[in-house]
Amino acid sequence: MNYPEIVLPRLRYQYCPKCRTELIKKVINDDNIERVCCPSCNWVHFPANAMGVVILITTENGIVSILPPNAPKEYPAALPGGHGEYGESPEEAAIREAFEETGFNVEITHFLGWEFKKNMSYPGPMINFYFEAKAIAGGIRDSEEGRVKIFALEEFPPISPQRGGSKKTMELYLERIKN
Ligand SMILES: [Zn+2]
Repeated sequence: MNYPEIVLPRLRYQYCPKCRTELIKKVINDDNIERVCCPSCNWVHFPANAMGVVILITTENGIVSILPPNAPKEYPAALPGGHGEYGESPEEAAIREAFEETGFNVEITHFLGWEFKKNMSYPGPMINFYFEAKAIAGGIRDSEEGRVKIFALEEFPPISPQRGGSKKTMELYLERIKN
C-alpha cells in the first residue's frame, strides 16, 4: 500500500498490528480523508504529530546551556529539550527533560511560544513548546546530551542553526526580557 510522502517510513504499516490482516485504504468518516484501516477488526491508523519541548533555565549565575559533544565548534551551545512522552503534557515534559539533561529541578515561569515543524524525516511533523523556567533545586549534572554549563546571558555561546528549537527559544526569551 502507498502512503503519502509525509508519513514516515517506520509508520507505513502494511498489515494490521492487532490481527495481521492486510490493511486497506478507506474513507471512514464524512471528512473524505482516506484512512489506512483494517477490513477485519476495524483498527484505524492515525499517525500522530510528535511533541517536543525546549526549556531556557535561569539560575542566579546565568542561563543553563548544554554543550553537545557533536556540536560544530562555532556553535557549541544548545538548550535542554526533548520529546514529550505519550500522555505527558508539554509542561510535564519540560520539567522532566530539564532534570534529565541538566540535573536541575525547575519551575516553569513563562510560556514563550510554540511552533509547528513539518519535518519530513524523524521524528516527523512536530509541535514544539518553548518554556522559560527557573532552577529551584538540584545542580549541574552532565548527560548523554552533553556537558552542562551556566553562562551569563551576554556570554552565552552561539546556538547552531540546526538547533532550531533552541535558537527560537533564546530569541523569544530575549524578546520577552526586552519588554
Ligand atoms: Zn485488524
